[in-house]
Amino acid sequence: MPTFKTVRGMRDLLLEESQKLNGLVEKARKIGELYGYMEVVTPIVEPYELLSVKSGDEIRSRMFVFEDLGHRKVALRPEFTSSIARLVSTDLKNEPKPLRILSVGSVYRYDEPQRGRYREFWQSNFELMGSNRPESDAEMILLTDKFLKELGLRDYVFKIGHVGILREVLTSEKVKEKTQDAVLLRMDKKEYAEALELIESKNCREVIQGLIGLSIDSVPQILNEIKEQVKIYEKALRATENMEEVWRLVTESGCKEVIVDAGFARGLEYYTGIIFEVYIPELDIALGGGGRYDKLIEVFGGKPTPAVGVAHGLDRIGLALQMQNITIKSKRKIRVVIIPVMEELKGEALKISQSLRGEGIPTEFEVMGRKVGRALEDADRRKADYAIIVGERELKEKSVVFRDLAKREQTVIKIRDLPKKISGSEKIES
Ligand code: AMP
Repeated sequence: MPTFKTVRGMRDLLLEESQKLNGLVEKARKIGELYGYMEVVTPIVEPYELLSVKSGDEIRSRMFVFEDLGHRKVALRPEFTSSIARLVSTDLKNEPKPLRILSVGSVYRYDEPQRGRYREFWQSNFELMGSNRPESDAEMILLTDKFLKELGLRDYVFKIGHVGILREVLTSEKVKEKTQDAVLLRMDKKEYAEALELIESKNCREVIQGLIGLSIDSVPQILNEIKEQVKIYEKALRATENMEEVWRLVTESGCKEVIVDAGFARGLEYYTGIIFEVYIPELDIALGGGGRYDKLIEVFGGKPTPAVGVAHGLDRIGLALQMQNITIKSKRKIRVVIIPVMEELKGEALKISQSLRGEGIPTEFEVMGRKVGRALEDADRRKADYAIIVGERELKEKSVVFRDLAKREQTVIKIRDLPKKISGSEKIES
């Protein structure tokens, strides 16, 4: 037999990494609870058509696509938004709005593997359906801010833009939707010259070039400059005012590090309004991103429903925390090992371990049949907290030897007193 490795771009997450991921998932769920989001679990495999119709060429070309045994063309989800939009246009279509939906799980993209870029990665994804008001856009940024702040991350910056500004200018200048998609995709990849080449009208090219070229640190100034550039395009002007209002709402709510980038675009085709990403200076890739998509639910046959969402890249957030030397604190239960001194006491020892588990105490039984000394060494190595040694003499007194592995101290204790002794000593561990 050959020796097997993981498929390229896929990772095993061993104890420390899986604990870290679970810590992030726990925190994301806490944020969901704080902001009133209900969690849903959707399938990893979805119809290809659903995932591809509005996702944009970039994501389309990176999907894991295959035919199932029933000859259906399916794909592994590259993101959550399409699945949630499917739900809201079908099973949840009559639910009162607003609908706040949280999903956490793995997503799949055939990206080139490198630091912070994997083919299977984790996201916590928040969608807010039914409101077209700027306070719902602001909520996405504010909950992301809260999430990162609670984790202890420093120096992160939100970058916001508005697809509506760019699309309205292009539409007014009669640039077809397909070409608009291609222009925004190039801009997303920062291939600005290639993006501009796709625009035939000189006038339009100059306006878009002007927006891309704007680089002013002061947000109020840059907003004025954008307004100046797009003043003849009524709807683009409205879009700029909308961005201004979202910026004002989030900064007034205490989220200070928000910059505006007029040339910022995102490859996903379903965006219609505000778009944003969040970064830290140490890492040149986004930790999360989102935006408004007011037409997707209609495209899926649902009632017209404005919507906005954000996806947090949990692997990258984990990486960012590591770069800033921040550990995720999580509660962990005390771990106990139970060791019978001899073969004949196995049954009694098992009975004790079952009753401890019945009290909710994680208990590992010595299944290797080792002598006490060797079993204790192993318990030490695996960082257990206590060992319970079941010996004949103590058992006659309905007692066992209770050993604190860290302190290397032991006492004889009544079996009935074990749960009280062990529980209540939960530790906080990084
Ligand atoms: P997107 O839907 O592309 O905006 O992705 C949302 C977030 O997922 C990004 O901001 C990243 O943090 C994360 N992400 C995207 N692609 C990858 C990848 N290949 N590996 C790890 N994280 C990713």
